[in-house]
Amino acid sequence: PQKPAAGPLVGAVVQGTNSTRFLVFNSKTAELLTHHQVEVAQEYPKEGWVEQDPKEILQSVYECIERTCEKLKEQNIDIANIKAVGVSNQRETTVVWDKLSGEPLYNAVVWLDLRTQSTVESLSKKIPGNNNFVKSKTGLPLSTYFSAVKLRWMLDNVLDVQKAVEEGRALFGTLDSWLIWSMTGGVNGGVHCTDVTNASRTMLFNIHSLEWDAELCKFFDVPMDILPNVWSSSQIYGQIKGGTLEGVPISGCLGDQSAALVGQMCFQEGQAKSTYGTGCFLLCNTGRKCVFSEHGLLTTVAYKLGKDKPVHYALEGSVAIAGAVIRWLRDNLGIIETSEEIETLAKEAGTSYGCYFVPAFSGLYAPYWEPSARGIICGLTQFTNKCHIGFAALEAVCFQTREILDAMNRDCGIPLTHLQVDGAMTVNQILMQLLADILHIPVIKSSMSETTALGAAMAAGAAEGVGVWSLKPEDLSVIGMVRFEPQIQATESEIRYSTWKKAVMKSMDSVP
Ligand code: ADP
Repeated sequence: PQKPAAGPLVGAVVQGTNSTRFLVFNSKTAELLTHHQVEVAQEYPKEGWVEQDPKEILQSVYECIERTCEKLKEQNIDIANIKAVGVSNQRETTVVWDKLSGEPLYNAVVWLDLRTQSTVESLSKKIPGNNNFVKSKTGLPLSTYFSAVKLRWMLDNVLDVQKAVEEGRALFGTLDSWLIWSMTGGVNGGVHCTDVTNASRTMLFNIHSLEWDAELCKFFDVPMDILPNVWSSSQIYGQIKGGTLEGVPISGCLGDQSAALVGQMCFQEGQAKSTYGTGCFLLCNTGRKCVFSEHGLLTTVAYKLGKDKPVHYALEGSVAIAGAVIRWLRDNLGIIETSEEIETLAKEAGTSYGCYFVPAFSGLYAPYWEPSARGIICGLTQFTNKCHIGFAALEAVCFQTREILDAMNRDCGIPLTHLQVDGAMTVNQILMQLLADILHIPVIKSSMSETTALGAAMAAGAAEGVGVWSLKPEDLSVIGMVRFEPQIQATESEIRYSTWKKAVMKSMDSVP
């Protein structure tokens, strides 16, 4: 017999750089019922290049959905209770595909990819008027990080893309667009759309008018007819075609960091969260105000939860490499076999023993925006072992957060009194304590580490025409909090932090 439904259910696709997940929540209690996760491959065809296969990513989504549905059936839960699906995705990663064949025309160029360094240099020379042309419209510095330059690179270098554009067959999108188009039918009527949060990371989108910007498209020489429709983050975009969830509406779409902000219920101005996955992203809700940073932070669209709802903005500190440094220790150095093992290693060391690790693998993002920086490990002695390096890698995640926090405090004027954190890395207790020590403010971790998924599910469940999620705090009553208090003296964190800053200076001068 099927269990009586405890309430309507909402699913969330979380398509990250490291992995894809599908999770199902009870919309009345926010309880996570079950999920399935698949790690996705990253390809490094040349130094500095990072690509992913859009087809593999799509398959990983389908696999996660089907396996999760099987798990629900094993728990005697009726799949028909799934009323909506939300999509949350790695941002900026760029795909161009053929709308007639449904085939990608090139691999996805991942946000971390550095191939566009020279594209950025030549574009920055031709910025019209004052240097603020791009930043004042988009909130973003001209950088390899955002989609427009990746798309420019494809238009310049990939023959299949050029031909498809000429013949009117090309569609551009970030991963949300590629997934939603494919899941709503692809060549058979797939919906080509994105939401305001994802659009705000392309560098082609005007964050004030909330529309594609003709001047920016002209500047990047991007044809506007290949761009998706931009809608709010919470509305019915289309229905799933095929598979176990046939007919279920897709009604939430948010870039992963916006989804986490929503999942952490940071709806008030001044509320902030920091998420630890491949990278680390600290977002502070600035309400309906577009605040421009003086200290290397980005201005971005936080969310717009419904067609007629107001847009909210955020200040964002983006760090390219957080969890990715642990994956690197696992895959490139082989000093751990699983990411979890880093905790054992770090515990054994208990200190970095004067070793500092600046993982500037993709240059440095906020607050430096220095694409030519490269990773360094310094302060080594005969005594240094892999445990110290492991510890230094975790510490690097904390120091990078501290840099962002300092910038955020300067821009906002009112220092954050605590930091709400989430993401896969936050299961690591050593990291959490180190973070509280180095930031020297309490770190508050939600018992629900899947806040990205929760935010996407909330947006989907709250959409007009779905209406199974109210977005009230009491919805999240099952979620507890764990607090980590600083356990070292402020002077000690200051000393370690200032040594870190010296190491950062070396990383900016580390290319022979
Ligand atoms: P993304 O959202 O970017 O796909 P995930 O949320 O899947 O990333 O986070 C995975 C990252 O977290 C990986 O880079 C992995 O190395 C790191 N990670 C996972 N578990 C731990 C852990 N226990 N300690 C430290 N890092 C971890």
